[in-house]
Amino acid sequence: MALATVSKKSGMVLIKGGVILTLNPADEIIEEGYLLLQEDKIEKVGGRREAPPDHAVDRIIDASDSLIMPGLVNTHTHAAMACFRGLADDLSLKTWLDDYIFPVESRFVNPEFVYKGTLLAGLEMIRSGTTTMCDGYFFEEAAAQAVMDVGLRAIVGKGVIDFPTPDTPDPALNIAHGKRFLEQCPSNSRITPALFCHSAYTCGPETLQKAKEVCRSSSIPFLIHLAETEDEIREIRNRYGVSVVRHLDRLGVLDEGTIAAHCVWVAANEFSLVAKKRVRIAHCPESNMKLASGVAPIPDFLQNGIPVGLGTDGCASNNNLDMLSEMDTAAKIHKLCRKDPTVMDAKTVVRMATRGGAEVVGLDKEIGSLEPGKKADIIILDLKQPHMTPIYNYYSHLVYSASGHDVVTVLIDGRVVMDNREILTVNEKDAVTAVGEIGKTIKRRTLG
Ligand SMILES: [Zn+2]
Repeated sequence: MALATVSKKSGMVLIKGGVILTLNPADEIIEEGYLLLQEDKIEKVGGRREAPPDHAVDRIIDASDSLIMPGLVNTHTHAAMACFRGLADDLSLKTWLDDYIFPVESRFVNPEFVYKGTLLAGLEMIRSGTTTMCDGYFFEEAAAQAVMDVGLRAIVGKGVIDFPTPDTPDPALNIAHGKRFLEQCPSNSRITPALFCHSAYTCGPETLQKAKEVCRSSSIPFLIHLAETEDEIREIRNRYGVSVVRHLDRLGVLDEGTIAAHCVWVAANEFSLVAKKRVRIAHCPESNMKLASGVAPIPDFLQNGIPVGLGTDGCASNNNLDMLSEMDTAAKIHKLCRKDPTVMDAKTVVRMATRGGAEVVGLDKEIGSLEPGKKADIIILDLKQPHMTPIYNYYSHLVYSASGHDVVTVLIDGRVVMDNREILTVNEKDAVTAVGEIGKTIKRRTLG
């Protein structure tokens, strides 16, 4: 397949020839369509016959035999943890966190680690079709810099926890450091800063309330892991006498600015509360499976009108950042659990990974579908391959047949960041080597 570039000029870009999955409210599919981009935005979407003449644009991307769709939105990850990929597998969340992740984080995580890890994760995401991520970690100003360099769009959430962390050795300063981060975070139009309170079991009531207040007054997202394991439910009930959802509600931190990851153990009698508070949920089925946390009641959330997006979680609990693989898992796990093959159909899952995710991260007016006026965050997948042939249903192909490797070209904010599998923003080889070296150091100093 050829993605011929006839001119390198920026400005007006015409993508033509492929099938366009718009993911607009009518779920329109244009069998042979075109997209006209002006700078960072989509100007027109239509059938090929209405496309402007080639000479009227600065650049043409020929997407024949390809599927053109909105970039995927990864609603929950810890990008820099790519450096810990495969470090500690096959463990419970508690053992994994307490005996492996927290100790190595305290020894090795610094701004350089976060920059290099986030850059590598960004490359993996772009290669597999993710154009926006919602990240939570330490030294997030370094993560923001990596996001800017690699060309992604991101919500970057500074980690807040009530014990010493690599970027806040004195937890009494965690809110002050959060505020400082918001003032100093490198920014451009692709970056939204946020605060990320790790969880209700690692952040006390005062920290949660103060962090939420900062987010509210700055109109930025508040990120948290919520109801991930049964242990969490038990621990919060022992400490505060209520479930973790009711605990957070009592503290006043549940509202539409809250992005809650996991929500595996939200009880049926709490669905209406979560819906009423307009909490947004990041569903991470592969991480939940790997850590044996459980299966979130996603079909119930959707039925209650709760916005749900998909997330990979950090690379250390997955162990990849491929949203197409996450989509496949999300579609299948609920069928198995409910013994019902009709739940979480392919179209629902594709929506969840695109415009659903955009709603979860608060960017639904800008991204998540291919419509005039929206940002040009676009991915192109190669359909002319054995495992993609024949084609009866594009949504089914995306969820059950495709993988991240099928993504050939990616545009973010109107800029081509990957052209026919070639990364154009940073030196990929150097980025891979840098994290390989970090891995060698960690291995030498921890595993002997
Ligand atoms: Zn997480």
